Amino acid sequence: MTTTPTAPAPTVNGVPQERKVVTAIPGPRSVELAARKSDAVAAAVGTTMPVYATQAAGGVVVDVDGNHLVDLGSGIAVTTVGVSDPRVVAAVQAQAAAFTHTCFMVTPYEGYVAVAERLNALAPGDFAKRSALFNSGAEAVENAVKVARSYTGKDAVVVFDHAYHGRTNLTMAMTAKNMPYKHGFGPFAGEVYRAPLSYPYRDGLSGDEAATRAISMIESQVGAANLACVVIEPIQGEGGFIEPAAGFLPALQAWCRANGVVFVADEVQTGFARTGHYFASEAEGLEPDLLVTAKGIAGGMPLSALTGRAEIMDAAHAGGLGGTYGGNPVACAAALAVMDAIEADGLVARAREIGDLLGGRLRDLAARDARVGQVRGRGAMIAVELVEAGTTNPDAALAKAVAAAAHAEGVVVLTCGTYGNVLRFLPPLAISDALLTDAVDVLERAFAGA
Ligand SMILES: *Cc1c(COP(=O)(O)O)cnc(C)c1O
Repeated sequence: MTTTPTAPAPTVNGVPQERKVVTAIPGPRSVELAARKSDAVAAAVGTTMPVYATQAAGGVVVDVDGNHLVDLGSGIAVTTVGVSDPRVVAAVQAQAAAFTHTCFMVTPYEGYVAVAERLNALAPGDFAKRSALFNSGAEAVENAVKVARSYTGKDAVVVFDHAYHGRTNLTMAMTAKNMPYKHGFGPFAGEVYRAPLSYPYRDGLSGDEAATRAISMIESQVGAANLACVVIEPIQGEGGFIEPAAGFLPALQAWCRANGVVFVADEVQTGFARTGHYFASEAEGLEPDLLVTAKGIAGGMPLSALTGRAEIMDAAHAGGLGGTYGGNPVACAAALAVMDAIEADGLVARAREIGDLLGGRLRDLAARDARVGQVRGRGAMIAVELVEAGTTNPDAALAKAVAAAAHAEGVVVLTCGTYGNVLRFLPPLAISDALLTDAVDVLERAFAGA
C-alpha cells in the first residue's frame, strides 16, 4: 500500500477543516445526552441529527465524541460568515463586557442605530428607508404585517403555496405546510389568503403565466381594496428552495405598486450574501416596500429586522413597535461584525463560487441519476428535488435515506419541501473547496447506496 503525503488540513480557531468520524454517529456521549434530552426537553422539539456539538468553526462542527462533521446546513442558513468567526466572537465579547442589555425602548444605544443605518443602505431601492429590530424571523414577519396594515388601513394578507414564514400564531397561518408546523395548533389568525406560486418544475408555466394566475386569484378572491400586503420568499426556503420562473416576482411587485398593496420580501433565509447577491431580490431588480431579514444577519446571535420605505415604516403610531429584547446590543454588535466580514471577505462572490462548485457537481449527478428530478437554487442555497425515476412523483423516502447515509459519514445535510423530498445545501460561505468536495463525494456515495 502506498500513501500519498498530504498537507495537514488548515485550521480555523484551532479546528482542523476536515471530516473525521471516530465513533458511530451518534457516538456514546451523544447517546447519553439524547437520553437526558428525552427526560428534560419537550418531545415536540426535534433534532435533525442527535449529535451534540461542543465546538464549531469554519465549515466544521465538532461533537462531544470527537467527530468532525462537515457543515452543509449553517444551523439553517444562519452562520453564513462561518461558525464562531473570530471577528464576530470579538465583537460579541467586547459588547457583552460593556453591557448586555438596557432595552432600546428605555435607554437606547448606538449599535441598534448603526445596524438600522447599514440595513437601510444595503436594502434594494434608492429611496428613504427606516428599520426596526426584533428577535426572530417570525417576529419580524409579524411586524411587517402590522406595519402594512397600519399604513394601508387594510386587513388582508396574501401568501403563497409552499410558503414558510414561522411558528407564531400569525406566521403559522401564513405558513403552508400542516405537518409539523401547524397540526393541532389552530385556530389560526384570520384574513390570510394563499395564492398559487410559480413552481416551474411542477407547473411548467412561464413567470408571466404564473403571475397572471396568482393575480387573478387575488383579484377575484381577496380584492386589492381589502389587501394590505403580499408576502413572499424570493426563493422559498422550507418549502423546497423553489425558485419562481423569471418574471413572476417583478410582475407581482408591479401589480402591488399599481394597486396600493405593500410588497413584502421575506428574505429571512435568502438574505446576507447567501444566494450570490446581498439579497435575493436583487437578482431580478426587485425593490421590496418591506424587507424581512433574520437568520444570516448576526452569525447566530438572535436578531431580525424589518427594513422598508420610510413613509410605510413611519406610519405606525409612536410606541406601536418594539419588544423587550428587540435589537439586543450584543446581537447588534455581532450583526455589524457580520456585515463587515461579508464585505472584507467578498462573500457575495464566494457564494457564487460555491454555487458553481456544488451546483456543477449536483448537475453531473442529476445527469447520471434519474431520481434527481431537478437541481435548483442560487449561490450557496442549492437543493435537489428527488423523484421516482422517470416520473415527477416525490420520493421522500430517498431524501431521508440519502440524508441518513450522509449523517452516518459525518456530513450535516437538511431536508425540506412540502413533500419532504428535497435535500438542501446551505454551507457556511467560509467553507473550503476541499471540505465541500469531500462532502459531495459522500453524497454521491450515499446516492449510489440508496
Ligand atoms: C426561518 C424562517 C422564518 C422564521 O424565522 P425564525 O427566526 O425561525 O422565527 C421566516 N421566514 C423564512 C423564509 C424562514 O426561512
